[in-house]
Amino acid sequence: MSGLYARESRSVSTMAHLRFFPQAVVGGSGAHLTADDGRKLLDFAASWGAASLGHSHPALREAVNRALSDQAGASYLSTANEPCVLLAEKLLSLVPERARGRVWFGHSGSDANETVARMVVAATGRPRILAFNGAYHGGTVGSMAVSGHPAQQGARAKDLTLVPYPDGDGDLAHLEKLFATEVPPEEVAAFFIEPIQSDGGMLVPPDGFFEALERLCRRHGILLVSDEVKVGLGRTGRFNAFEHLGIEPDIVVFGKGLGGGLPISAVVGPEAILNHAVAFSLQTVHGNPVCAAAALAVLQTIERDRLVANAERTGRVLREALDRLALRHSLIGEVRGRGLALGVELVADGKPAARQAALTVYRAFQLGLVLYYVGVNSNVLEFTPPLTLTEAEAQEGVVILDQALADVAAGRVDEALLADFAGW
Ligand code: PMP
Repeated sequence: MSGLYARESRSVSTMAHLRFFPQAVVGGSGAHLTADDGRKLLDFAASWGAASLGHSHPALREAVNRALSDQAGASYLSTANEPCVLLAEKLLSLVPERARGRVWFGHSGSDANETVARMVVAATGRPRILAFNGAYHGGTVGSMAVSGHPAQQGARAKDLTLVPYPDGDGDLAHLEKLFATEVPPEEVAAFFIEPIQSDGGMLVPPDGFFEALERLCRRHGILLVSDEVKVGLGRTGRFNAFEHLGIEPDIVVFGKGLGGGLPISAVVGPEAILNHAVAFSLQTVHGNPVCAAAALAVLQTIERDRLVANAERTGRVLREALDRLALRHSLIGEVRGRGLALGVELVADGKPAARQAALTVYRAFQLGLVLYYVGVNSNVLEFTPPLTLTEAEAQEGVVILDQALADVAAGRVDEALLADFAGW
């Protein structure tokens, strides 16, 4: 264990820790991090997708420096500032017509989804919310309340109904039955969806399911909320991840990669909902011009450097390399995802291989690759690298993963290493 990691344990609380191996970093550039022992690590996690442009991107540095050198205050609560207005205008141009109303800014996916959950109920007068089993919409009380991930310790809202994420044909029979029995649809304000259920295990919905769901929601006046926090903003090879589903949500939620690593989130939706009340959901440095300037630079860089196309192209290279690995490693049950939002599900004897997933990411870290795992059964390796990832870096990472999987399968990785790394 490195010196920095050990020192951290003597000063920093573990309450926000989600640790898979003793990673301690002192710098980074592009898709690489520098560990405090000088090792270079190839980063296929990008801090859970937040470092959308990689580390130390010149466009982000320049935007943040500029915003700080002539700082237009530190908040949008009581004053307009230019970066926020420009960012709101830009975001409105990136969503479907029906969501093109107003933009709310927050710090995180969590505060954004919490705000949506409160706002849709207040604005429609309907008390109920729908979401999927396994959904992760945030880690605050109000966002956990509308989530369905088993790792969370917060309580669900009493008016939340969780439905199974579709697999197979993904028909709507379950939902239609609910509507006919215990969940009157006219009481439902909104349905929260993830276009790929990422923390639930990088689950890609079956074709046509969400189109049918959208029709059902429209019939009952239920707002469709697309949580694009993890897989939006180009990561799937389309700008908005919901574009793959053939739907047009009423409300779009952005976070993580929006700030390229700085804390900012955004909710975009109809004016009647987003302007329902004033002083309804606010924190002091919401809408600060520094994070807004960073987000603008992220969006401009995604456009200028054609990073959506890069996610599609490099994602295909990564996917094909992972598919080839699957032919040689019996631990790999399935490779799935879109663009640079990919998952590799590990199974052993037909069961979720959680222990092997933990050992694999640990071994990959020892060999120089940063990769975490997700899934309601903790057995899906998650790939959310920077959108700037090159094809050579994609191949380099898969070579390391190949070795890590081989070492795990051969029993060459000591299980005792996992003692302090429970993951989730
Ligand atoms: N929505 C989704 C789909 C997420 O994956 C996450 C985080 N994993 C969140 C919301 C919450 O975002 P944050 O942790 O930045 O608050």
